[in-house]
Amino acid sequence: MSKQYDVVVIGSGPAGYHAAIRCGQLGFKTACIEKWLNKEDKTVYGGTCLNVGCIPSKALLDTSHKYVEAQHDFSVHGIKVSKVGIDVPAMIDRKDKVVKQLTGGVAGLFRANKVDGISGSGKVIAADKVLVTAHDGSQEELTAKHIIIAAGSVPIDIPPAPVDQETIVDSTGALEFQEVPKRLGVIGAGVIGLELGSVWARLGAEVVVLEALDEFLPAVDKQIAKEAHKILSKQGLDIKLGARVTGSKLSKGAKKSVTVEYTDSEGEQKTTFDKLIVAVGRKPYTKDLLDPAVGVELDERGFIKVNDQCATNVPNVYACGDVVRGPMLAHKGMEEGIMVAERLADKKSQVNYDLVPSVIYTHPEIAWVGKNEEELKAEGVDYNVGVFPFVASGRALAANDSEGMVKLIADAATDRVLGCHIIGPSAADLLQQVAIAMEFSASAEDLGLTMFSHPTLSEAVHEAALAANGHAIHIGNRKRRAS
Ligand code: FAD
Ligand code: AMP
Repeated sequence: MSKQYDVVVIGSGPAGYHAAIRCGQLGFKTACIEKWLNKEDKTVYGGTCLNVGCIPSKALLDTSHKYVEAQHDFSVHGIKVSKVGIDVPAMIDRKDKVVKQLTGGVAGLFRANKVDGISGSGKVIAADKVLVTAHDGSQEELTAKHIIIAAGSVPIDIPPAPVDQETIVDSTGALEFQEVPKRLGVIGAGVIGLELGSVWARLGAEVVVLEALDEFLPAVDKQIAKEAHKILSKQGLDIKLGARVTGSKLSKGAKKSVTVEYTDSEGEQKTTFDKLIVAVGRKPYTKDLLDPAVGVELDERGFIKVNDQCATNVPNVYACGDVVRGPMLAHKGMEEGIMVAERLADKKSQVNYDLVPSVIYTHPEIAWVGKNEEELKAEGVDYNVGVFPFVASGRALAANDSEGMVKLIADAATDRVLGCHIIGPSAADLLQQVAIAMEFSASAEDLGLTMFSHPTLSEAVHEAALAANGHAIHIGNRKRRAS
């Protein structure tokens, strides 16, 4: 007899565990299948995000930022430290402890919400059946009224630089270095490449980022991307644009290095690194997930095809998170997981795909939501722009952290906020204020009329909103209108 559930979720990353917990809260008998094993061969929940993604990368970014502060910035405040050093194994160990605490937390939340966590690999074998293969090879069939697929994504590998997880690593390997590489190569100047490149550059590695495209961060507002390029280059990242990696060769001998071949505007080039991180993007993970007879459709890039409510073409089968279209971001998957669970309970939940915030956790952080100038120009929308530099923020100066700016864009006719783009201290958290305002269709004037505590970094958001209508107090107003 197969075990019967109302809902079976495959995958316990942010999309899957949010779906499973919400299903449990709504009274559905729910199981969540997870195949991830940690370094100790124990099943752990939380997927890429908690195990090898958002959280461990931020743990290393936070450690390396503190190191830079202790080394270079404390003295500005008059704080004297005699000798600053970095114990890399201790840093990695702390990161592992944070991961362990959070993955254990998900297991606890499953218990609290009566979700059965099931260890093994799930495969959809019918619209109401999932086959679970445990790590010892034993199999069990689960019956489900509804199936939610949240199998996530894995790093893309490229033939010119095959990952061996020792010298040539992907993002997972880059979280495990036991010493600071002397010379580190990064292929790809995307979010992950810049974050992981920053970690090791801050700790003293000479970092070269090879990016095939000629433009830096093409998805980011041009003004912000230009500022980011300037600041990150000043921090020591050698960002080579228009540099397409075509091959690599590992050295022989005990201490390995890798020589990377790439082409740029001047022709064929070669350069040697102690370690190389391949960070060229991620792809949906659907290996052994779907019996073709079930008929769940994939798109041409391998994503499971879904509608705006995350329903697949097969009734009662849903998919959410990185395995479906849209930005590969944990919070996008979380909201989708919750939406699917709530729709199973006949609630009319929706995800607002127009307001998915994006963040690059460099220092300063880069964060944006809504439309940028280039997109609005392409759409022929008439807009006003307000820009406020952190160098004019009392709080940023007090903290000695005043690089960057807040840029707010509002519709010229209605004043409704259309986008916000920030590079600066705590940009991710500052951006959220504007995301909330946009969710409630606020105007730049609404933000301008809101009282902000003084002195805060948030005042930069307030001033940018005022600047959009030419009313900023702490900078000269150059109201800019474009169409
Ligand atoms: P995943 O987190 O990938 O989880 C899928 C789970 O399903 C996995 O645990 C997998 O083992 C399991 N699974 C797959 N197939 C099966 C099967 N057949 N049976 C059982 N289990 C299965 N996003 C952000 O928003 N902010 C960040 O700061 C951020 N930083 C990142 C840093 C790095 C280095 C990386 C790699 C990613 C980062 N991301 C970040 C992206 C984020 O991690 C993903 O968008 C997010 O984890 C996707 O969630 P998911 O639930 O769709 O899939
Ligand atoms: P993202 O998809 O944001 O993680 O970024 C990955 C980046 O890797 C993109 O900007 C790609 O242009 C870049 N990329 C992909 N293949 C190569 C390659 N062979 N050489 C250099 N850069 C690459």
